[in-house]
Amino acid sequence: MAAEIIDGKAIAADLRREAREAVEQRLSQGRRRPGLAVVLVGEDGPSQIYVKHKRRDCSEVGFVSEQHDLPANTSEQELLACVDALNSADHIDGVLVQTPLPEHIDPHSVINRIDPAKDVDGFHPENVGRLALGLPGLRSCTPQGIMTMLARTGRELTGLDAVILGRSSIVGRPMSLELLNAGCTITVCHSRTQGLAGKVSQADLVVAAVGREGLVKGDWIKPGAAVIDVGMNRNADGKVVGDVDFQAAAERADWISPVPGGVGPMTRASLLRNTLSAAQAAD
Ligand code: NAP
Repeated sequence: MAAEIIDGKAIAADLRREAREAVEQRLSQGRRRPGLAVVLVGEDGPSQIYVKHKRRDCSEVGFVSEQHDLPANTSEQELLACVDALNSADHIDGVLVQTPLPEHIDPHSVINRIDPAKDVDGFHPENVGRLALGLPGLRSCTPQGIMTMLARTGRELTGLDAVILGRSSIVGRPMSLELLNAGCTITVCHSRTQGLAGKVSQADLVVAAVGREGLVKGDWIKPGAAVIDVGMNRNADGKVVGDVDFQAAAERADWISPVPGGVGPMTRASLLRNTLSAAQAAD
């Protein structure tokens, strides 16, 4: 294997240590612990696991962590009232409403209701707009985590041709804005894109965020490229795998992120970073 592994698990552990140190410093200065509130509506299995991990991360770094578990039949008005209460709670810096929400609740109304200064997921239109304009703000966690991973490679991003697979609001779109802001020339591909292999094979940097096992073949990768695999798929053996044919791509790439142990831990670490930044901004 030629490529170096971008070890998201190790980088995320560094970020958690930095967050813990920042909390200790805040406490020694007489300031309070950062606080994250996670709202879960209903009993979606994967969401319950994600929320448990977020709580565990918070307690590891010394944040205040609040969980608001609401029944699946909670009305939109009741959820908005919960968000309002958290928006005005002084000990809470970050408000996260776990998605997916039950069908009777409009996720846009809920995201729009979160105070942009507490929007630690970085999904509020104000924060997305700030990212689009290259202004400071709370940035979407998965793309932010990927930018941190890329920074750790030491590779200069300015001038690179970057191809992003996927245009979702939580990964593909904000990722394209992050890379545009970093000086890359970006191509965003989606389900209607034609000639995907040809586009990927021109890329110095590939970010795959589709959710389809083995979509990106190893021989599509330009020799020397950096490859970031966001996809999380269950293969026939029940193992979690990415969108990229890892072994074959690693023969051609210079840098590659694995699944698991790549982008996933970085997304969670970025949530801690955003909560800490929100607390610092609220001081
Ligand atoms: P999503 O909302 O389903 O979006 C998938 C995107 O892929 C869409 O833009 C879709 O195009 C595009 N697409 C579908 N088939 C394609 C094809 N054959 N060629 C090119 N593009 C294609 O998914 P998501 O939420 O962005 O997540 C993507 C993957 O990343 C999933 O596996 C998810 O589990 C994973 N994920 C991981 C993390 C993490 O922290 N590790 C975080 C978020 C997501 P259209 O827009 O045209 O439909």
